[in-house]
Amino acid sequence: MATYSVIIPVYNEALVIRETYRRLKTVMEQTYEPYELLFINDGSTDETLEILRELAVKDDTMKYIDFSRNFGHQIAITAGMDYASGQAIIVIDADLQDPPELILEMIERWKEGYEVVYARRVKRKGETVFKRWTAYVFYRLLRAATEIDIPVDTGDFRLIDRKVCDQLRYMRERSRFVRGLVSWVGFRQTAVEYEREPRFAGETKYPLKKMIRFSLDGITSFSYKPLKLASWLGFLLSAASVVGMFVVLYLKWFAHSTVAGWASLLMVMLLGNGVTLLMLGAIGEYIGRIYDEVKERPLYIVNETWGVGTKHERKPS
Ligand code: UDP
Ligand code: MG
Repeated sequence: MATYSVIIPVYNEALVIRETYRRLKTVMEQTYEPYELLFINDGSTDETLEILRELAVKDDTMKYIDFSRNFGHQIAITAGMDYASGQAIIVIDADLQDPPELILEMIERWKEGYEVVYARRVKRKGETVFKRWTAYVFYRLLRAATEIDIPVDTGDFRLIDRKVCDQLRYMRERSRFVRGLVSWVGFRQTAVEYEREPRFAGETKYPLKKMIRFSLDGITSFSYKPLKLASWLGFLLSAASVVGMFVVLYLKWFAHSTVAGWASLLMVMLLGNGVTLLMLGAIGEYIGRIYDEVKERPLYIVNETWGVGTKHERKPS
């Protein structure tokens, strides 16, 4: 049984894995306590798995889980939590944007009695203006939309206690937004601050499409506000149309002039249809997720594992 489990999701990270391994190793040796490095290979198509195998045969602390295909970053983290055996579990990105050295500071906080220590980025280096800007807007939007207190500018780089991990393992929801779930379970939480480094090598595995999906997962998992927006917009548009009706009738009966032609008509129709479709889309986002939930498929499928015991099927007591 390890004291610390470090969970590292990897997707086509052949260029960075060796360096990540080396840096993590150096840091974890400084704890003088047993630890495990648990890599989750999220269906990589490059040599990631070969490198993991090569490292694992030489090192007992090195373990991995190999997915049958790409299931996504958040699911990979979840699998890591399912298999981790440590008393404290640390989640870190593979690309060294999150400095492994910060783990020591997190561990100190954990020993002071905090169950969740998350890392807040005070600065992001080497990321595009677009990424920084979208991330900035996303965290504020999420904060405005949800009732629970999800800290801003905080990724999944964090340390959680075994207690928190066990609670998270109870939650098998599919559209997972792990950092939200961690806030949701509560316990004593604190932050350490860091400056986000540029990627060590390779490129981001979060293209715009995945980013949008991820943001929608975050908002829909923790808020009904988009649905409430539909009723409010409906109310507003109906009110506006009643006023409009009176104006038109007044003009026709008393001013004997009618507003000309189809331009105005078309505008109103397009606006109405646009809003309706938009709101249908919002409802669709929720229905799609309900559909995913009721199918109750497993969250991920494992192809091969190394070094880990059987998945903790035991429910937390
Ligand atoms: N990742 C993953 N599955 C995916 C996408 C990403 O396991 O489908 C991993 C990736 O290998 C990295 C972490 O998630 O360790 C964060 O991804 P990335 O650094 O590309 O995201 P960014 O920092 O650009 O937001
Ligand atoms: Mg990154």
